[in-house]
Amino acid sequence: MPELPEVETTKRGLEPLIINRTIISVHIYKKKLRWKIPSHLSKTLKQKTINNISRRAKYLLIQLNNGHLVIHLGMSGSLSVVPSTEPLKKHQHFEIKLDNLTSIRFNDPRRFGSILWQEKGEQLKVMKNLGPEPLSYDFNNDTLYNSSIGKSKNIKAFIMDSKIVVGVGNIYASESLFLAGISPKRLSGKTSKNRYKILTKAIKQILTDAINNGGTTLNDFSNVDGNPGYFSQVLSVYNRDGMPCIQCDGKIKRIIQNQRATYYCSRCQH
Ligand SMILES: [Zn+2]
Repeated sequence: MPELPEVETTKRGLEPLIINRTIISVHIYKKKLRWKIPSHLSKTLKQKTINNISRRAKYLLIQLNNGHLVIHLGMSGSLSVVPSTEPLKKHQHFEIKLDNLTSIRFNDPRRFGSILWQEKGEQLKVMKNLGPEPLSYDFNNDTLYNSSIGKSKNIKAFIMDSKIVVGVGNIYASESLFLAGISPKRLSGKTSKNRYKILTKAIKQILTDAINNGGTTLNDFSNVDGNPGYFSQVLSVYNRDGMPCIQCDGKIKRIIQNQRATYYCSRCQH
């Protein structure tokens, strides 16, 4: 599943290929993704120039003069830029043809992704109530601690809550807690300010490393293959249950918290 680092890598990969390009036509091959792709897009996007692309949480925002095309990759989505003449592949549900004979294509086998339109001056419901970006200055030593006061949920669920901080998915939550030496079972409201400081640093570090690793896939971005590929990176605890901890040689444990698998070392994380 594409997490924040993959979405950021997609953004960086698309940037040089689509900015300042003009949209010639829009093609919706399969309307029904997570939500219906608005059918007015063919009209709304036609002849508009792409001014910018940015990311907010796991949403990609393609900026035009009249608003933003908002794309979420869902469980299995990916974007690619290919020659427009390339035959359409099975799971390519949406296409934007650009003025240089290339196309942005949205590929999504499981169809949990979404393509939405945000009119200029408006804010989509899905973009509201989002917490700070984990790699921004707004997410700092005080942020997590201040929002933890009085909270009763476990710390893993707490850092995965997008109202608290966006983009910390299941893998990165486990990895960040391991790096910070904090047990995922600890209660968020009963964790010290100093430990939140260490955790904040760990979250930034884990996500930055993942993005930097993902950078290597950028060269393949416009491959005919049309798939940026979700990068597998070196993980310390995630998916390693029963295997030796890289720090203490103890066994990595797997538990279920809030219906999600959590991996941790009970010796290194308290
Ligand atoms: Zn350990």
